[in-house]
Formats: sequence, C-alpha cells, structure tokens
Amino acid sequence: MARAALRLLGFLLGAALLRAAGPTPIANVRIGRVEYVRATDVAARLGLKVRYEGAKRLLLSDGAHHLEVPAPGATDLKEISLDGLKIFLGDPTVVRAGQLYFSRIDFEHRLLPLLRPAASPPPPSVHVIAIDPGHGGSDNGTQNPRLHLMEKTFTLDVGLRLRKLLEAQGYQVVMTRTNDSRFANDPKVDLPLRAEFANTKHADLFLSIHFNAGGTASDVSSHGTEVYTFPPEHQRATASWGSGVDDGELGLASVVRFNAWSVLFAHAMHEELHRRLGTEDRGERLRHLGVLRPLNCPGILVESAFLTNDAEGRRVATPAFRQEMAEAMLAGIHAYVAAIDSLRPGAAHGMAPAAAHLLPAVPAAPESAPPKGFQPPRRPS
Ligand SMILES: [Zn+2]
Repeated sequence: MARAALRLLGFLLGAALLRAAGPTPIANVRIGRVEYVRATDVAARLGLKVRYEGAKRLLLSDGAHHLEVPAPGATDLKEISLDGLKIFLGDPTVVRAGQLYFSRIDFEHRLLPLLRPAASPPPPSVHVIAIDPGHGGSDNGTQNPRLHLMEKTFTLDVGLRLRKLLEAQGYQVVMTRTNDSRFANDPKVDLPLRAEFANTKHADLFLSIHFNAGGTASDVSSHGTEVYTFPPEHQRATASWGSGVDDGELGLASVVRFNAWSVLFAHAMHEELHRRLGTEDRGERLRHLGVLRPLNCPGILVESAFLTNDAEGRRVATPAFRQEMAEAMLAGIHAYVAAIDSLRPGAAHGMAPAAAHLLPAVPAAPESAPPKGFQPPRRPS
C-alpha cells in the first residue's frame, strides 16, 4: 500500500514536472471525435528525419529507431512498424491536405514512450515480478481437441519455468497460481483478483501468460504471437475497429497510470519473443483486459502462440519449445529492466534526470520528394 502510494506520487510529481518544464504542445487538429497531430510536427519534436518511400510509406527515423507508417490507401491505417516490429495504434492515421496525422493519444501514450522513454520519469526498479498463468481448474482456456491440448496446462508450465529462471537471477517471483486451480471460482472476479493479488504482493511488474485461439471454430490457420497492453483513457481496443463498436473507457483504470512503462515492457517482450521463437509477428495490440485493469504496476498479457493451429500446437506441446518460450520471456524482462535502469539519474552512460531530458524541437527536413498523395512537410513555425 505504502509503496503503491509512493509510486503514484512519484508519477504525479514527474508528470507535473514534465508539464511545468516541457516544450510547447504540438498543435492539435480535431478530425471527427479524435484529436490529431501532424507526423512532421511529431518528427520535429522527437528529432526524427522524415523520408518518403515511394507512395507507400512515410519513414521517420534517427540513429536508434526506424518507424514506418503506411500511406493513404493501405488496408489498415492503424498498423505501423517500429524497428521491424508490428504495432497497432489506437486510432487510424489520417491524411489531410497531403499531411499525415497521428492521434494525439497515440503520439503521447505510444510513440513517445517507445521512442523517447526518458521523457517520462522512470518507474521504481524491478524486484518483485508477478507471473499470471492464464486460466486453471474448471477453466481450461483454449483447447485443441484434435491434439488434446489445453491452454491452462501450458500457461502454468511456462509460468513455472519462467519463475525458476527469474529466481535464479535474484528476482522475487509471485504467481497467481502454481497448480491446476482457478484463482477465483466466480469468473467475474477471477481476472481482477489476479491483479489485486499482484498489488498486495507489491509487484513491480506483471506478466499474464496465455495461448491463443482462432477467431472462429473453423479458423485453424491463424498462428503467431501477440502482446497486449491496456488502452490509454478514451482509446479503443484494437479488435473493436472490426465490429465498429467504440469500447473506449472514460474512467481512468489503475493500470493506465503506468502506461508508458507497460508500452515499453510490451515492446521489449515483443522483440525478444519474435527474435527467439520465430513465430509470426501479430503485433502489439490494445485490449481492455480485466486482468490488467486494477494493477498498481506496469503489466502486459502475452498470447504466446495459437493452440488451435496444429503445427504451432505441436510445437507448444514440446517441453523444449516451452523452455525456449520461458527463456525468451526472461530476456524480454531483462531488456525492459535494462531500459528503465538506464534512464535513472547517474546510470552508467550518464542519462540526465527524466524531467531535464526534454525533447529537442529540431525541425525535420524531408530527404526525398514526397510522392503523389503527400505534400512536403513544412517546417514548424
Ligand atoms: Zn487465455
């Protein structure tokens, strides 16, 4: 309780400092119900160079990062790529008068934490890690009847393997379950109580482990890995765009206070899972997950692989692959911890304190002529 309160206080103070000392805000344009900011203004603020690749893509890059944004006419204007990894934005990008726009929420709560994590005060060091093996007991989770596979078996096995690896590295690990039982029998409270359990154990990081199922009973072909964070306030879930139902939440979920760090954790985990397992990259996605909502720390959910795809299910059924999966998750946690520790004042490579590390307002210059459909970015006035 005391730690959670202190952590919240730290975040609020950090946010206040950023507001007080921060650069002037980027101009907004309201398109429909969403506030947008120009991609060229974002690039200028972050010190990224802008380049057009044919009529297909806008590239924003510096020495460290490479962001690819599809041009008008692409099938999914929420899907972008950062350093070769797929990310689904919360709102589609739009083009007005030849200028590409990101939603303000995507800029502030997704791109900024990923590209310039030092713009937020670093969270406390990670000591206690909560692992949540999905499902359990009467809740089998996803099943593959052809291969007799049950999700609850594999989430627990991977969770136990990961616990062993983390404990060997000196972390304190708490688990929402260590045997074939459900956390709570009432399905309505099972998920939030898992997060509350992590809160009572003062977890610094939360990882929920799941395996995926095809969208329909006949979908046995979908395969790959997805990583989920809880959407920022007012944003929709990635899957809500297909149904056309705006499921954005108005109330501020507890976990949203840690959004910048959940986003960074998701990306670190995504990178390691993708690199080490070689599963299809199905992207970083947003979803209002009950198991994440009440958290007092950064948290993500991983849909590690599809059990309903026989080839992938067979792979998951081997202990060797599940060990690789646990090792990839350990590497994802290591990468996140290294990233946040490098942001602390006095870190080895001498990063400045977060609030002093504000972003340069360097005008971005186009390096190639814009194709039809885009206009040259104007220098910010
Ligand atoms: Zn599941």
